[in-house]
Amino acid sequence: MNTVNKSVMKKGTTMSIFANGRYYPLVILILVAALMTVTGLWAVDRASTQGDVLVEGNNSQQLQTYHWKMVTTWPKNLPGLGRAPETFSKLLDEMSNGRLKVHVYGAGELVPAMGVFDAVSEGVVEMGHGAAYYWKGKVPAAVFFTGVPFGLNAQEMNGWLHYGGGMELWKEVYEPFNLVPLAGGNTGVQMAGWFNTELTSVEDLQGLKMRIPGIGGEVFNEAGGTAVTIPGGELYTSLQTGVIDATEWVAPYNDLALGLHEVAKYYYYPGWHEPGSTLEIIINSQAFESLPQDLRVMVKAAAYTANQDMLDEYTARNNAALQEMINNHGVQLRKLPDDVLRKLKESSAIVLEDYAAADPLAGKVYESFTAFRKSVIEYHHISEQAYINARDL
Ligand code: CA
Repeated sequence: MNTVNKSVMKKGTTMSIFANGRYYPLVILILVAALMTVTGLWAVDRASTQGDVLVEGNNSQQLQTYHWKMVTTWPKNLPGLGRAPETFSKLLDEMSNGRLKVHVYGAGELVPAMGVFDAVSEGVVEMGHGAAYYWKGKVPAAVFFTGVPFGLNAQEMNGWLHYGGGMELWKEVYEPFNLVPLAGGNTGVQMAGWFNTELTSVEDLQGLKMRIPGIGGEVFNEAGGTAVTIPGGELYTSLQTGVIDATEWVAPYNDLALGLHEVAKYYYYPGWHEPGSTLEIIINSQAFESLPQDLRVMVKAAAYTANQDMLDEYTARNNAALQEMINNHGVQLRKLPDDVLRKLKESSAIVLEDYAAADPLAGKVYESFTAFRKSVIEYHHISEQAYINARDL
């Protein structure tokens, strides 16, 4: 009985708490607090789960930050040529929100200028910036991806590379070297160069000692001149001391920076040997494949932008630099005589045909290049060229 009463009393006590209206606010408060605690814990758990998925799940690469090295064939921050790698790196950093950081090294900082191809090919570094024609000793076909004498101008090079089959061939040529190529800049039409003797006819080419590298140099030899190779840093002294009679470099924007107008009498045009030189970005194949798809797309987009940006900068700055040379430094501008240009054009055809015949892959690229050149020249006769002629009327 006592037991029963105790039980009843306990029950009654318990009931009385809920029955008593004084306790309702406390109960509601406890329930609300419990609900908030459960909701909060769920939200925290959900957030950390999402974080875990990103960190440990299939999308793990999306959060990884890559630190890459890019070696170049230019002195660090050289105007024009050396600015493209910096433009590329900055764009990529911004586009990827800091996930792909490319540190740019000037020539000689990590590897010498002419060691860029091997360093990227062997995976010593992930990327390089330079010009394909520097590697013609290892890869004869590479010259066409920079440009050749009397070849394509900048606009035409971009057309061939990106819509005319050129890029597919470039990939094929570089694939055995473990490299992925991208166009990474264009100088536009260069100048024929700086001369200390006046050229009035083909005979003036005989024995003329000119610094002119690559295929252009071979053509110059074929036409009767004597081509020599001297690094950019020695051009000023070589011209000043008469070691050479002439030199080519790039165009007014770059040439003014070297001060070549101080040691040469005449500035000749047009740059028949480099009508629109494409610069290259090369990427180690394994490094490129290790990137998630979105970063690979950003690499291509940044290269495409840097490719156009260099041309835009030269277009804007060359004219101003030429005006300064003429107006402030008394530079004498000269056009190469037509018979000299005709001779150089004939010599180019001979040299390029021999060159293509000596290497099967070079022959394959030459065929694509020359077919595109022929068709685009026909169209540009009635478009670009006709318009420029009309503008001059
Ligand atoms: Ca040049």
